[in-house]
Amino acid sequence: MVLSTFNLEGKVALVTGCNTGLGQGMALGLAQAGCDIVGVNRDGPDDTQSKVEALGRRFWPVQADLMQTSVVASVVEQALAAAGKINILVNNAGIIRREDALNFSEQDWDDVMNLNSKSLFFLSQQVARQFIAQGNGGKIINIASMLSFQGGIRVPSYTASKSAVMGLTRLMANEWAKHGINVNAIAPGYMATNNTEQLRNDESRSEEILGRIPAGRWGVPDDMMGPVVFLASSASDYVNGYTLAVDGGWLAR
Ligand code: NAP
Repeated sequence: MVLSTFNLEGKVALVTGCNTGLGQGMALGLAQAGCDIVGVNRDGPDDTQSKVEALGRRFWPVQADLMQTSVVASVVEQALAAAGKINILVNNAGIIRREDALNFSEQDWDDVMNLNSKSLFFLSQQVARQFIAQGNGGKIINIASMLSFQGGIRVPSYTASKSAVMGLTRLMANEWAKHGINVNAIAPGYMATNNTEQLRNDESRSEEILGRIPAGRWGVPDDMMGPVVFLASSASDYVNGYTLAVDGGWLAR
């Protein structure tokens, strides 16, 4: 029956940057659907672990700064040592730097590209190798952005990195579909998290943005739960290489 295809019981999901915001919302959604979670974060314990455990699921913390690709192999090793397998990867960790394009620094370019695009690719590569070794496919969900579709303002490296996420999602799907691996992305619209605090504090930008969202509100982490469970589950087995906007209708305007 169709509802059972959304059930994730017995699956292990590795979620990056899940101590707060959209990553926490997705980790909790996956746990509600039955997943155990490997949470990859820069810092030590946080309340995601207790919230996942309160749902009766296991949570294994892995500490890593994903700005460096050198940590990728060890992240996957630690995840496997703890959980024994990985079925789902959610590449959520991401940062944004805001500055006029005329003044934008190379550091702000490199930091954002390294975390949002480069580590996302190499972690996906490492996990895809594991999926192939396990022999029963897997699901990769990348977190893209409205700026995978649009240019944005004052965020050159973020736009470049998130446009790369949409392209890489297609490329990885093309190459790995034959192994039973689905690679899709979710492009959140304007969501109320740390990432958008500056925007929400700027009264005129905030009003401008809200006025363009047909849903009439900023998104929240819970809005990510249904979409991530769908893309992580066998309900979406024939969906591959696609970037799903979860934006309250923003792109439809
Ligand atoms: P957030 O609250 O700032 O969360 C970002 C997450 O990434 C945090 O867990 C953060 O951990 C982690 N992170 C940052 N640098 C890291 C590093 N070097 N290594 C490992 N983890 C790191 O923002 P969010 O809105 O939830 O963002 C989640 C994802 O959604 C990002 O990819 C973002 O680009 C994307 N997104 C957000 C929006 C939005 O409107 N909010 C829209 C489109 C896309 P720390 O707490 O340690 O910093």
